[in-house]
Amino acid sequence: MNRFYIWTIGCQMNKSDSERLALELGQLGLQQVQVVEEADIIVLNSCAVRQNAEDKVLNKLSNLKALKRKYPETILALTGCMVDSNIDDMKERFPHIDFFLKPRNFDDLLTHTKKHSTPLTQTIPSTHSQSATAFVPIIQGCNNFCSYCIVPYRRGREKSRPMGEIVDDIQQLAGEGTREITLLGQNVDSYGNDLPGKPDLADLLQELNQIDNLARIRFLTSHPKDMSQKLIEAIAFLEKVCEHISLPAQSGDNETLAAMRRGSTIEQYTELVDRIRATIPDVALSNDIIVGFPNETQDQFQRTFDLLEKYQFDTVHVAAYSPRPGTIAARKLEDNVAPEDKQSRLRQVEELQERISTNKNQLLLGHTVEVLVEGHKGERWQSRTRSDKLVFFEHENDCLGQLVQVRIDHTGPWSLRGSPAMESNLNVG
Ligand code: SF4
Repeated sequence: MNRFYIWTIGCQMNKSDSERLALELGQLGLQQVQVVEEADIIVLNSCAVRQNAEDKVLNKLSNLKALKRKYPETILALTGCMVDSNIDDMKERFPHIDFFLKPRNFDDLLTHTKKHSTPLTQTIPSTHSQSATAFVPIIQGCNNFCSYCIVPYRRGREKSRPMGEIVDDIQQLAGEGTREITLLGQNVDSYGNDLPGKPDLADLLQELNQIDNLARIRFLTSHPKDMSQKLIEAIAFLEKVCEHISLPAQSGDNETLAAMRRGSTIEQYTELVDRIRATIPDVALSNDIIVGFPNETQDQFQRTFDLLEKYQFDTVHVAAYSPRPGTIAARKLEDNVAPEDKQSRLRQVEELQERISTNKNQLLLGHTVEVLVEGHKGERWQSRTRSDKLVFFEHENDCLGQLVQVRIDHTGPWSLRGSPAMESNLNVG
């Protein structure tokens, strides 16, 4: 047993968990492969936040039945938010799966692997994978219980990592060449509430801003009811903290927000957006929206649409409501918006946002922006601005991890293209 394959769906927290599992399996001497049939251990890291994500996982689980029949010695594991506390029920539903691992709890699989693996490599890899960017979880779980959300049931209550541990981790990453880190949490704005002395996210950003070699710091996701003025000012004044905030409204209508149990009104949300924009010039704001929540009328949807049109967010992630078994909404509210209405509202938001993003990106045409190069896509380097816009450019040298000035010569709704403004920007050779 010496090769493993991990398939991941869902949020950045899942991606980060998969990276950590890959690292731990790598430290046992196993090799990660990209072709599922070549693996001795196959892990599906699942998401249960929306029905369509769960459907994709169920499809993968079903495909693995044939593989298990053909190669019965292959170890199959399911982890992520689909793994609930009723493991016996899951074993009955998916008898071909060997391990059901709750999110971030990989011990059973690692213990089994230690006993049965034949390491391919004798050298222990470093404690982190080397890349230009990295996700770093700082707080797990959520105390909010929004009525539609399964996360608190699967990831538990908020638990912050001690600040010193996070700083040490990121110092090590920076020492190994990571230039940008994204701090992760279901609600990063609650960071530290459960720690002695209650340090907050602004305090953590202040510490991280001093780390040599680190160029950029991001964080996700914020809850509008928990974002403090101290945090807004930290983003404005700490030079390594990127001017990009993910701030889900979920709806533009107060009755819907109350049914969602979001804990704040649309007036409080828009006052916050105005205050953020007044404090942080050129800030980029992302929004998440759910359409077709139970009882959402056309008028109520229109209020969401009007919010998006008026406030012109940089990106909007929109999803049609699907009930998640066990949540408050699934138990108490009828899923009574017709599927065709949900799809129509979804399309309207997508089309509106495509127009807004197109217009916003066009303003960058001919301008020079600073990007951090995070990888390669086909013939081009893939990079990102501080405001999280994707920029592609061509250059023959190795640009990975470098900050480059790029002159934008093509814009679209979802990405930009350009060319390095001056060769001297590139510290290559
Ligand atoms: S804040 Fe609400 S939507 Fe976000 S993880 Fe917590 S319960 Fe879910």
